[in-house]
Amino acid sequence: MQTKMLRTSVLALQSHYDDLSLSASGMISAVAGNMTLVTTHSASHQTRERRTEDAILDTMLSVSRYDLDLPERSGRPERWPDIPTPARSIILGPAAVGRSIDHLATSELAEIMGADIFWEDVAFWGIYGMSTDDRLDFTMRRREWLSNKRIVHVAIDATVEHKRAILHAYKSQSVDVWRPLRYAWTCAREAHLKASFAERLFVTERGRSILIETGFDLSPGPTIAYGQTTLSSEWCKVR
Ligand SMILES: [Zn+2]
Repeated sequence: MQTKMLRTSVLALQSHYDDLSLSASGMISAVAGNMTLVTTHSASHQTRERRTEDAILDTMLSVSRYDLDLPERSGRPERWPDIPTPARSIILGPAAVGRSIDHLATSELAEIMGADIFWEDVAFWGIYGMSTDDRLDFTMRRREWLSNKRIVHVAIDATVEHKRAILHAYKSQSVDVWRPLRYAWTCAREAHLKASFAERLFVTERGRSILIETGFDLSPGPTIAYGQTTLSSEWCKVR
């Protein structure tokens, strides 16, 4: 399929080699021309295998990679190494929905680096956003952080086939590609979208402006009950 290249430069920070693909590859496929991808907790007993699987993104986009090689499940390091930030990049990271201490640490790092857009964490197993417990835990733990965020649902119908193909690369993690895609369908239903599939972002007011500048059209959506809180939502699609 044809990818609409808006030549947007993206700096994305993920904890593990499949995080970005699971959570935001529909959106990334639609807009990113080149990407710097930092994987923070890249060291595990499957490092080589997982890095090879994640290289599916490199074939799709022009990707510069930095692996920080922190051990998986080690959370926040004493000191983060310096990470080169390309000029005029949109910075993305995880919101840390779920109980992964790595995702939380990476979300904090993304914020330190100036991120205004955070993806809802999606996994092959036990999709966090689907779990009432995980939503509750997230909104309690990140109450302060959420106070300046709204939810944006990105319609990914145009790139969902692309996302499906990407997710098929992660055989060491799961072949149940339908799970994250089913969740993208649920997200779209929850936001009453006309689209069939959506990815969900938590964005600041500045992040919202960045999305508009990048080529997304934003429209008002319903108020979403999420864990202990309610957040105003918008939905967006590539212009
Ligand atoms: Zn992860």
